[in-house]
Amino acid sequence: MHCKIDHHSHYSLLCPTSNRLTDAQDYQETGMTSYQTFYQQSINEPETFWGREAARIHWHKPFDKVLAYDNPPFREWFAGGLTNLCYNAVDRHLAERAEQTALAYVSSETGIETGYTFRELHAEVARFAAILQAQGVAKGDRVLIYMPMIPEAIFAMLATVRLGAIHSVVFGGFAPASLATRIEDASPTVLVTADAGMRGGKVIPYKPLVDEALGYAGASAPAKVIVVNRGLAEAPMMKPGRDLDYDTLRDAHLHDRADVTWVESSHPSYILYTSGTTGKPKGVQRDTGGYAVALAASMDYIYGGKPGECYFSTSDIGWVVGHSYIVYGPLINGMTTLVYEGLPVRPDAGIWWQLVEKYRVSVMFSAPTAIRVLKKQDPAWLHKHDLSSLRALFLAGEPLDEPTATWIAGELNIPVLDNYWQTETGWPMLTLCNGVEKKDVKFGSPGLPVYGFNVKLFNESTGQEVGPGEKGVIGVIPPLPPGCMSTVWGQDQRFVDTYFSLFKDKLVYSSFDWGIKDDDGYYTILGRTDDVINVAGHRLGTREIEEAVSSHSAIAEVAVVGVEDSLKGQVPKAFAVVKNPALLDDPASRAALEKEVIARVAAQLGAIANPARVYFVNQLPKTRSGKVLRRSIQALAEGRDPGDLTTLDDPAGIEQIRQIIQQ
Ligand code: ATP
Ligand code: MG
Repeated sequence: MHCKIDHHSHYSLLCPTSNRLTDAQDYQETGMTSYQTFYQQSINEPETFWGREAARIHWHKPFDKVLAYDNPPFREWFAGGLTNLCYNAVDRHLAERAEQTALAYVSSETGIETGYTFRELHAEVARFAAILQAQGVAKGDRVLIYMPMIPEAIFAMLATVRLGAIHSVVFGGFAPASLATRIEDASPTVLVTADAGMRGGKVIPYKPLVDEALGYAGASAPAKVIVVNRGLAEAPMMKPGRDLDYDTLRDAHLHDRADVTWVESSHPSYILYTSGTTGKPKGVQRDTGGYAVALAASMDYIYGGKPGECYFSTSDIGWVVGHSYIVYGPLINGMTTLVYEGLPVRPDAGIWWQLVEKYRVSVMFSAPTAIRVLKKQDPAWLHKHDLSSLRALFLAGEPLDEPTATWIAGELNIPVLDNYWQTETGWPMLTLCNGVEKKDVKFGSPGLPVYGFNVKLFNESTGQEVGPGEKGVIGVIPPLPPGCMSTVWGQDQRFVDTYFSLFKDKLVYSSFDWGIKDDDGYYTILGRTDDVINVAGHRLGTREIEEAVSSHSAIAEVAVVGVEDSLKGQVPKAFAVVKNPALLDDPASRAALEKEVIARVAAQLGAIANPARVYFVNQLPKTRSGKVLRRSIQALAEGRDPGDLTTLDDPAGIEQIRQIIQQ
């Protein structure tokens, strides 16, 4: 079956005049006019629902069964079907949009700005696949990609899946030890890297880190290392017989093109590690067909991006957002993906908005942490550019606090939507699907369960579902929808044990996040279950206290952790960054501010939630993906070792906390 590609956006996002969407052909044919009916069908009749959505992608051979679910929690979406991610992202668009820019690339670090049409992207990717093939890469083999944000990184990803091989992208800049464990886990045939990355104008050599990691990796080390030499660092040391220069290979294979290898829908497309915020990165394995369908549908129902338009995600290909919404989602949907290497504040805080104007970006995706960085800058930067093309901004990765959401929504005057999801889920699990029905945003909440996800809140001890107003673990009743992880790479038992062992008597996927919902069914994330603070028997999410602290106008950002206390079990302690550090110069005003903050928490949440201390710091320790490392702050606050810091972005934050605690 060559399903007719029917991926035009039938659902105009955010139709301003009505909250029902115009033009919703397929969806209206089904008679569903509200999100509620749409969602219910996805849960009650998943085969009907996803069988219909599957027509959004190209199937080389039709599937026999929408869902094979004989061995829960393992499931196979679109069983028996043959497809290919690269074909859906690239080749399929050649007929209609060969001359459209597929990949626009801007590096504020190197000053390079370039673009590739779908025709050019196809040539680069099919050639890169031929190069990999010549190095022995075949279906099922792994290719490890340790690259900065350059077009070649995306060519390498697409080339890998073109061959039915499996990529494992490791965030560029991870230390050799982190890289080595990921190499060991994947045993790649080939590793693709570059001489260096660049951040804030500083060259960060990559190749020497690879050499060091390969020293540890032993038998799992790849036979070949392909090096893209950007000419940023000193000429990299090339080990004869192992290391190959990409430009030389590209010349040698200039006219070679590898064909698409059709793979089963359940064939792994990639392995990707979770961010390591809890110190236990898991190798998430993703399938092919289910992922492609899930992303294609999400472009319509969640993001409202139309083929031919430009999608700008500010993430990095090393994270799941980069996989789903820099590379695969926009391209599968026939959009131009804007790939940016650089910081949001360099050369100035207007750079993103300048790009939005120039590339007529219609959908943008970023993280709350980046918006908080911009919030500290002059808002005039936002108003210097014509942002009329931009219809919505999506933010994900960590809690989107109300002051930040209100600020950016006010400045941009477009909908700002919080997306809650995980590396494991591959696409949003809680958000508002404005492409189906426009609902009111409530800042501080990502909104409702996304179609396909049977989300519930559970009481951890009893396993009972809890109702509105009660806190619980956010869980999903399986089967998990298409696009979610298939298993932990090479460790099926670990998949079951890690994610489905919350309760003995029933299978529930645990998100390890703690939440609450209101009477309208809107969820609020209260923090990670690991971070829940238990004060004299009262359980508090870190987020609740953090929101209360950051509602004080002097506070820019805060992390709250539970610290062991002989009397109360635990007490909350807050680590806050102030907007104006000069405020802290005077010890009296510092003490006054601490008092004010504590009083504010007491007023909002009751005295039980009062932080025992509010420490003022210059920055919070964060992972490289921008998440607060609460476990390390907590460890230091309890006088313990901060644990695995390989995912830490800037050690200065942790150092300062170590010193403050010792004072
Ligand atoms: P690890 O699983 O290795 O400890 P991690 O959980 O940070 O790391 P990711 O998969 O990158 O790895 O992040 C998913 C987590 O990020 C979620 O489980 C949740 O805790 C947090 N998160 C993501 N989006 C949101 C959001 N919109 N609001 C609140 N929290 C969010
Ligand atoms: Mg996690």
